[in-house]
Amino acid sequence: MRFDELKATKPNEKKMIADMEALTKELKEAKNEKEAIKAVQKSFKLSDKIETNFTVISIRHSIDMNDKKIAKLSDICDEVGPKLSPSSIAFDKAMVESPFKEALIKKFGETLFDRIENEFKLFKPEIINDKIKENQLVNEYQQVIAGAKIEFRGETYNLSSIVKFMSDKDRETRLESAKAYYNYLEENDAQLGRIYDDLVHLRTEIAHKLGFKNAVEYEYRMMGRLDYDAEMVANYRKQIYEVVVPVVSKIRKQQAKRIGIKKPLFIDYSLEFKSGNAKPCGDSKYLVKSASKMYHEMSPLTGDFFDKMSNDNLLDLDAKPGKMTGGYMTYIPKLKMPFIFSNSNGTAGDVDTLTHEFGHSFQGYLGSKISVPSYRMPTMEACEIDSMSMEFFAWPWMELFFGEQADKYRFAHLCGALTFLPYGCEVDEFQHWVYENPNVTHEERCKKWAEIDHKYRPDFNYEGFEFAQGHLWMRQSHIYQSPFYYIDYCLAQVLALEFKCEMDKNKDRAWNKYVKLLKMGGKYPFLTLINKAHLRNPFENGNVAKVVKPQVKVLKGFDDSKM
Ligand SMILES: [Zn+2]
Repeated sequence: MRFDELKATKPNEKKMIADMEALTKELKEAKNEKEAIKAVQKSFKLSDKIETNFTVISIRHSIDMNDKKIAKLSDICDEVGPKLSPSSIAFDKAMVESPFKEALIKKFGETLFDRIENEFKLFKPEIINDKIKENQLVNEYQQVIAGAKIEFRGETYNLSSIVKFMSDKDRETRLESAKAYYNYLEENDAQLGRIYDDLVHLRTEIAHKLGFKNAVEYEYRMMGRLDYDAEMVANYRKQIYEVVVPVVSKIRKQQAKRIGIKKPLFIDYSLEFKSGNAKPCGDSKYLVKSASKMYHEMSPLTGDFFDKMSNDNLLDLDAKPGKMTGGYMTYIPKLKMPFIFSNSNGTAGDVDTLTHEFGHSFQGYLGSKISVPSYRMPTMEACEIDSMSMEFFAWPWMELFFGEQADKYRFAHLCGALTFLPYGCEVDEFQHWVYENPNVTHEERCKKWAEIDHKYRPDFNYEGFEFAQGHLWMRQSHIYQSPFYYIDYCLAQVLALEFKCEMDKNKDRAWNKYVKLLKMGGKYPFLTLINKAHLRNPFENGNVAKVVKPQVKVLKGFDDSKM
């Protein structure tokens, strides 16, 4: 079955709840282990069925946010989703209280029950309306961002498609497009500030209702972080500050020299090379063809998988009006296949999508063999190891995408992996401060952002872009949509760099280790998972430096003066 053959149907709240209640009854009335196991397996099937419909609606909605029919279905999902919680919790409760619990643990594993206990802490009927409100606010943010119609040199762009001009080799083009970009945010500042303020208060209120001290504790639980806490994350950020910020300062100085700008503005750092950044040597069709060749050469498994993704219409890559910004991969249970969404805009970022999102999808594909739905995919920080490592596994094939500019791409990609770390920590530190101080004003938040930005990116000069200096965070959709998610990219980047260090020594060994990690899916929480995959704990002092130092050496191996 192909993606376009899947029907999006109006979610039937009553039927879904009745189906779940019937299964709860079946589990409670089970006379033996076999019957109890069967009821649980049926619940997995039901959850796959519901999830498939919700996912199809969400994909179609993100592809065309102007399609009113799908938008309506998506609104229904936002509203119905939280209302399903009580019956799903009731089922989980029946599992925990089942006289056959031991047999269920033996069959489905301990982690499932740990997650259920975690879920219990995250739900009370009093928060249902708050969760619906939260969905609506996030939706409102997406509308403001997706609805951007930015006039630039006689053409209309959205926030995704104008970005390519912001890294143009012509300085005027860079500055002018950045002005247009930030003007749009400034025009919508009051609304974007208000939406975030509402979200912060709402999430704090939910946390309090559930008995958490603040939204930090609550959101960590929501992210399924069962084996680390905010303090350990703070220690990780400290390592980035001490080890990576000085490295990035050197990278920036070298970059400014390379592009020939004595006093660079923050936007100038989007340009890696005077001759322009590495550009893919073809349109998205050409890139998909190149990706197909690469994945066929990489391994038989990745080759077969890629064919299935393109044959079954599971890729939607081009930027078009009305499309949601950004890129994502999601999993469709009914097809046992993932879906890749992105906004190709003619930059090297398009290739990142075909490697990054493909890494996610490859995990989804390998994990689809697992019957327990919540075990198929790991928590988000582990998911990002899969995708970011794939970006590095793809290095040997970059000539297919960039021709003679392949080294240019590789050099910029590795620089980007390192320069990203301080920014990621900045987003994370900002969010901790925001949720620890929920009652400050929008302007105070912006002032704090500027302060944290200066700590992690001391080389950034915002002259003439004073608005961006304090408000740049508003373009980072994660801050609105998925609180505290952003650090997951940083944790994963360090582990992907560990894979890179391994590839540099022994490619086959690194690949086997990678596939083993992906196949484990989400059977274990983060630290257990990476321990089982023989990867180092990024929270421990010294482990960031262990991967960053060798890669700084790799960077020195490139002669960037010729690029
Ligand atoms: Zn990702």
